[in-house]
Amino acid sequence: MSPTQTKSPPKSSPSQPETPAPFDLGQYGLTVAEIHRNLSPAALYREAIRDDAKCDIADSGALIAFSGDKTGRSPKDKRIVENPESKDDVWWGSVNVPIDDETFEVNRERAIDYLNTRKKLYVVDAFAGWDPKYRAKIRVICSRPYHALFMHNMLIRPTAEELADFGTPHAVIFNAGEFPANRRTKGMTSKTSIDLSLERREFVILGTEYAGEMKKGVFTMMNYIGPKQGVLSMHCSATADKSNGRSSLLFGLSGTGKTTLSADPNRLLIGDDEHCWSDQGIFNIEGGCYAKAIDLTPEAEPEIFQALRFGAVLENVGYDKDTHRVDFKDTSITQNTRGAYPIEFIRNAKIPCVAGHPTDVIFLTCDAFGVLPPVSKLTPAQAMYHFISGYTAKVAGTEMGVTEPQATFSPCFGGPFLVWRPSKYAELLAEKMNTHKANAWLVNTGWSGGAYGVGSRMKLKITRAIINAIHSGALSQAPIATDPVFGFAVPTSCPEVPAEILVPRNTWGDKASFDATAQKLAKLFRDNFEKYADGASVEVKGAGPSGK
Ligand code: ATP
Ligand code: MN
Repeated sequence: MSPTQTKSPPKSSPSQPETPAPFDLGQYGLTVAEIHRNLSPAALYREAIRDDAKCDIADSGALIAFSGDKTGRSPKDKRIVENPESKDDVWWGSVNVPIDDETFEVNRERAIDYLNTRKKLYVVDAFAGWDPKYRAKIRVICSRPYHALFMHNMLIRPTAEELADFGTPHAVIFNAGEFPANRRTKGMTSKTSIDLSLERREFVILGTEYAGEMKKGVFTMMNYIGPKQGVLSMHCSATADKSNGRSSLLFGLSGTGKTTLSADPNRLLIGDDEHCWSDQGIFNIEGGCYAKAIDLTPEAEPEIFQALRFGAVLENVGYDKDTHRVDFKDTSITQNTRGAYPIEFIRNAKIPCVAGHPTDVIFLTCDAFGVLPPVSKLTPAQAMYHFISGYTAKVAGTEMGVTEPQATFSPCFGGPFLVWRPSKYAELLAEKMNTHKANAWLVNTGWSGGAYGVGSRMKLKITRAIINAIHSGALSQAPIATDPVFGFAVPTSCPEVPAEILVPRNTWGDKASFDATAQKLAKLFRDNFEKYADGASVEVKGAGPSGK
């Protein structure tokens, strides 16, 4: 990453290099005597079972852990330190809320003070980024063994040699998530605070034990460093062709199918969530996957199911207290149950997780309105329009009895993790797609046959067939119809997919209702895009839905 190296602490004496000093964290003000660095999964199991009353072992061998009150990320509690060096780079607003350096120091000290009350601490020193040229050294400091195992799985594990030569990390995460932020601290609005200093390359977590916060913290850091060097960081999964090594990217917001569809027996897995695109090709940022576990079955998702074995972390799942069998349907703790496992647990994973330039860039959307076609081919301008829009939909909470889907627009399909303005990432994507002649597609993994409440979610089998047809080239040859509202090219035939579902209007019983719903979604797109109309530095003219 060539990040500015901070000065390493002075070596005790250069004349005695044979006996390395015992590992300590004194440089951060951490005085805990018992520090475990890079424990093996088995040793972390022992620690978790011994010291963490709630941790348990599933019958599959996975470590069951619980994250407490927070079972998902807390985007509203993220703060970025406003520093003169990076001030003009950052996209300030609801995603990146500024705090001053002094507030950062207050929270950092609170985290350090808390960590110093612990009997033991765990350190994970590992890498982010599979391309050695852009690889960042990450240090995680935490007090829960499960958090250490999680990051052991999610980062790229160093060899014994690499660990011995690790030196000064490029970024440090202080995870004091068991301890709250002080709500009276300037800029705090809750007991949760996730604070990132781009200059210090430090990340402080208070008041949330959701492990995904650490992983997305690393991603946020990479989203800052990457574009600085002309490398595009992306919230997408990636697979590679088994024979020619070219890759394919699957962008999408949470729950749209990045992880599910990247576990593809026909392809090599490069990664399920975070990648970079450099002049050499693409590389995964992570060393593991973090899959949704809700309703997981070995029949529908065999690759992910078998990966949830010894070494994997299963977060917030329900299980039988006698048999330790996990009940993947149990949502009593959260809908967002998760499993984290090293990428090599997936049989088709390609190690190292790098691949050639993408042939296809696929935007996944879970359209709960049921009006977007299962697959559309996008022009370069349409690709930019949809990349900047970042549309998906959420089905409203059942507890309120609301059945109306809710549209979500999140630029670059990863708004919460962007550091630069969306146009920065869009420009890089446009340039790279153009240089490497990548095709662009929009794939709806959401509703068909009617909106949420009437229709049903697209069958996984259908979406997999569509992805196969994109990769085989069959869809580029298919006859097309132009969508009258959204303007993109809709393939009207696809191997293994019934032709009648390819044009959504055909699947709705009530055509008038379809037309009204399509117009409604088109308007939501237009309204959302208004805020980018002025600043859009990429070509998007005429690429959005028609109408006013
Ligand atoms: P995150 O960014 O939160 O990790 P993700 O994009 O990786 O989200 P997945 O973990 O792949 O999302 O979740 C997709 C979920 O939707 C899975 O539980 C999957 O079983 C389910 N699903 C149902 N139908 C489909 C479909 N047609 N395509 C993809 N996923 C589907
Ligand atoms: Mn995922």
